[in-house]
Amino acid sequence: MSSTSLHSRARPDGAPPRVVIIGGGPAGLMAAEQCAGAAVEVHVYDSMPSFGRKFLLAGKSGLNLTHSEEEAHFLTRFGDAAPHLAPALAGFTPAMLRDWAGALGSDTFIGSSGRVFLRSWKASPLLRAWLQRLAAQNVRFHPRHRWLGWAEDGRLQFETPHGVRHVEADATILALGGASWPRLGSDGSWVALLKSRGVAITPLRPANCGFDIDWSPHVATRFAGAPVKPVTLHFRGEALRGEFVVTRHGVEGSAIYALSARLRDAIEQDGKANLMLDLAPDRSLERLTADLEKPRGKHSRASHLRKTTGIEGVKAALLREQQDLTGLAPAALAKAIKATPLTLTAARPLEEAISTAGGIALNELDADFKLTRLPGVYAVGEMLDWEAPTGGYLLTACLATGRAAGRAVLSCLTKNSGLS
Ligand SMILES: Cc1cc2nc3c(=O)[nH]c(=O)nc-3n(C[C@H](O)[C@H](O)[C@H](O)COP(=O)(O)OP(=O)(O)OC[C@H]3O[C@@H](n4cnc5c(N)ncnc54)[C@H](O)[C@@H]3O)c2cc1C
Repeated sequence: MSSTSLHSRARPDGAPPRVVIIGGGPAGLMAAEQCAGAAVEVHVYDSMPSFGRKFLLAGKSGLNLTHSEEEAHFLTRFGDAAPHLAPALAGFTPAMLRDWAGALGSDTFIGSSGRVFLRSWKASPLLRAWLQRLAAQNVRFHPRHRWLGWAEDGRLQFETPHGVRHVEADATILALGGASWPRLGSDGSWVALLKSRGVAITPLRPANCGFDIDWSPHVATRFAGAPVKPVTLHFRGEALRGEFVVTRHGVEGSAIYALSARLRDAIEQDGKANLMLDLAPDRSLERLTADLEKPRGKHSRASHLRKTTGIEGVKAALLREQQDLTGLAPAALAKAIKATPLTLTAARPLEEAISTAGGIALNELDADFKLTRLPGVYAVGEMLDWEAPTGGYLLTACLATGRAAGRAVLSCLTKNSGLS
């Protein structure tokens, strides 16, 4: 569909064209920023009483805004979606994103892992400054407006505390997010609305999520919340050193999230995923065997294990969960420590996940993120069918796609209406 398919409404009062952005998370606000201050009216609608709620939550334990790794490597994090996202990400690189945050008074720093964090740690100062700047640029905010779809006459329909409201738009940018943490506003209700218009949607699935494990009552009750670190996770040829947390249901945390797409896909295919843990990643099998061969004296088996290898608490419980250690020779015990199996049976529900996989199929969009089946309608952010690990990739792609669509809309509307 060509860019001239946006309605170039000749508004009777000569008012400027109107851009309606639905969803006031990072993607929608970035789209608004691109159109703001120019000769178009920009309106942002959101179902919640305030904007950017998930962004605020994301900053609760340190906002990881982007990543400092080399650009080509950065792009690989988006897997098959990389070619679709590459132009938007090239237009808003991690370095540009850091400058953008800095201009809003939120400086960033690079952590030891290469992840880029806000110095303020929290997202609230950045969000506050951003919303203020947008308001000063005449962006109009409409909280408590839940999008219901389109009315028969093509106008957008919103449910508000004062009844259903109809809104006319020259261009609409959908930035409705995924479906994780629905209490923050994004609940995936847009899936049915777009499907009914013929838009192909890849089913929404949890990404960066925890998993169920059939723990014994001992592990589930005594060790829920216990961090397991350091540990190396092995899964189908990939080895990842890091840490995770035991939960009542199973496991979650950074090392699990990093493997979660592959683990989820394996469970979908085979009904389970077998993860192997190296509980002593800093010692070789030989060294561990030699340590365990030291005389036990009067010590109990547990205290000998702790003294010679450092394996205790949750690590010892994970080891025992899998096999009876009584009578195991040092070499066999060392082997068990270096390869403790965990069987993951299901991904935790989407509502608990950090992010959402699936969404609007990328081949439904043109290079400007315009839906080819719906004239004048664009879609950006997490509602598109891409996924990425944690590490700042999610926010970077949401902001970059919002920026790309916002710029495309502005350019199109100003061209169509003869504005410049
Ligand atoms: C606990 C947690 C921690 C995270 N930490 C990080 C991190 O450190 N780094 C990182 O990169 N990413 C992180 N993320 C992910 C990141 O927050 C999201 O990827 C990002 O917020 C998605 O942006 P978005 O604008 O596409 O959607 P959202 O932020 O979800 O915004 C969508 C908006 O649309 C509104 N909306 C939805 N449906 C309707 C409707 N029908 N009508 C009107 N409005 C509607 C919602 O209310 C919401 O405000 C984290 C996520 C979680 C849950």
